[in-house]
Amino acid sequence: MLGAIEAGGTKFVCAVGNEDGTIIERIKIDTLTPEQTMPEVIHFFKKYDVKSLGIGSFGPVDIDKNSPTYGNITSTPKPGWTNYPFLKTMQEALQIPIEFNTDVNVAALGEMLKGAAQGLDSCLYITVGTGVGAGAVVQGNLLQGLSHPEMGHVLVKRHPDDTFEGSCPYHKDCLEGMAAGPAIEKRWGQKGHELQDKQEVWEIEAYYLAQALMQYILTISPKKIIMGGGVMKQAQIFPLVRKQVQELLNGYVPLPQITEHIEVYIVPPSLGDDAGITGALMLAKRALETRKATN
Ligand code: ADP
Ligand code: ZN
Repeated sequence: MLGAIEAGGTKFVCAVGNEDGTIIERIKIDTLTPEQTMPEVIHFFKKYDVKSLGIGSFGPVDIDKNSPTYGNITSTPKPGWTNYPFLKTMQEALQIPIEFNTDVNVAALGEMLKGAAQGLDSCLYITVGTGVGAGAVVQGNLLQGLSHPEMGHVLVKRHPDDTFEGSCPYHKDCLEGMAAGPAIEKRWGQKGHELQDKQEVWEIEAYYLAQALMQYILTISPKKIIMGGGVMKQAQIFPLVRKQVQELLNGYVPLPQITEHIEVYIVPPSLGDDAGITGALMLAKRALETRKATN
């Protein structure tokens, strides 16, 4: 039995499952303070004889294995979680191999091994929800550099009809500031799911998302792009984004995946809302393999 945590800003999903990615049991725990939330998380895993654990966490987090603060949640404004030693707490409680990464990198891993990007060695996963975040697997590895990527905050060109100033507390009109769920709500005065029939809402949404995807295609060159999160439940965004990506690239990346079959290149998660937790389970499997390789 392997353990998995998808740690979000509003809830933790904890699951146990097996090496083929099947989830056997799961619970949801509200993200309150660490003192309230973590004992429940630990209690869940102690009930099962888990051999290893994979964690995909909200951030920002330190995922540099050589850093003294590896496994910490770092500069979040969420009360109690600033500089919280997440990984260390779990290691001390469970004494098993644990792998730790960002929620979106882990979701990308889940979709690559068990979802829409099966058989490939790279993919990008973007979530458009309360915030915008993206993670990627490149040549089999979860993307990491100086820190983890923060692709949700890339700059975008303003739509000519859009006067909304943007809602990112750091950059105002970056991608997240213009395209996350709260930005839609502030721009139009209604929540996304109430705006389903307003074509201009989704044209503007796709305008921003397509620009970001263009940057990702030009820099990371993922073999598949998976778009999840609450806002992407509006399925009508997909054809708009695909069309605008093609128009923006304008034939510059002359590959059939983009020019001919973009409907299978930019896709929803085939694991649905389980991309993250399945990826965390796959990360637990990696933790076990890493342990075996070093023994
Ligand atoms: P989180 O990002 O907090 O994990 P979600 O991915 O569900 O959670 O994103 C929540 C955001 O997505 C909210 O701003 C909400 O208004 C928006 N959202 C959720 N469902 C829909 C929907 N069906 N259509 C449009 N927007 C939605
Ligand atoms: Zn920003």
